[in-house]
Amino acid sequence: MPGSFKTEAVVLRSIRYGEADRVVHLYSATRGRIGAIAKGSRRPKSRFGGRLEPFFRLNLVLYEGRGDLCTVTGASTINGHPRLRSDGPALMAAGRGCDAVLRLLDSEEANQAAYNLLCNYLALLDVDPALSSAPGAALAFRLKLALAAGFSPELASCARCGEADHITAFSGAAGGVVCASCEGDGFPLSEEAHRFMVEALARPLAEAPVAERAVAAQSDRAVSETLEHHAHVRLRAAASSSVGRGARRRAA
Ligand SMILES: [Zn+2]
Repeated sequence: MPGSFKTEAVVLRSIRYGEADRVVHLYSATRGRIGAIAKGSRRPKSRFGGRLEPFFRLNLVLYEGRGDLCTVTGASTINGHPRLRSDGPALMAAGRGCDAVLRLLDSEEANQAAYNLLCNYLALLDVDPALSSAPGAALAFRLKLALAAGFSPELASCARCGEADHITAFSGAAGGVVCASCEGDGFPLSEEAHRFMVEALARPLAEAPVAERAVAAQSDRAVSETLEHHAHVRLRAAASSSVGRGARRRAA
């Protein structure tokens, strides 16, 4: 049934469309993913101003017609994250975070935990843009996002046989840590990387543990391979040191 509705949402991606319009990919609090068109939003005197840009958290009024895209009819800013938006590395980190949400959470179903996590991550990057240079927070965000999406790796015991001791490797196919006798297709996982992932999931995002380079690389690989095997999505590397192949350009 066509009609208007209100929701809070974060702009994940914003694409120029036609002469003066913009298509926005949103992650909303109440309906998960939403695609919407904002007509006339690129005109100088648009009532939307500059707020339909990536990383803005907004209160929106949307009209849902019969097409695939909703129409933005009203937008007010909850948090524009101005410090994040003026810091290169923080922008990159936020871009990778939004990209992970785009790839992993594509359903039109509310996921409050994922929405809160995204808002929390953007707010943290805005308060302290330097956070983006430490891979710990980015990886903790990714682990928590996998958990919210239902694809958290098994970390408590061997994902194949349940053995709690002698964990030596991680297997994306098995979806978690594996013991010495089950390691088969896994890659070696250090105790430090295992501990990092357990702590990153247990602590609030603001208190994410610090990850050294090797620990970060193993943890990133563990999450990526789990999501490739079980969610069938491929994410870009989480840490800024390895973004080379897909540096994000601002979509706006
Ligand atoms: Zn085992």
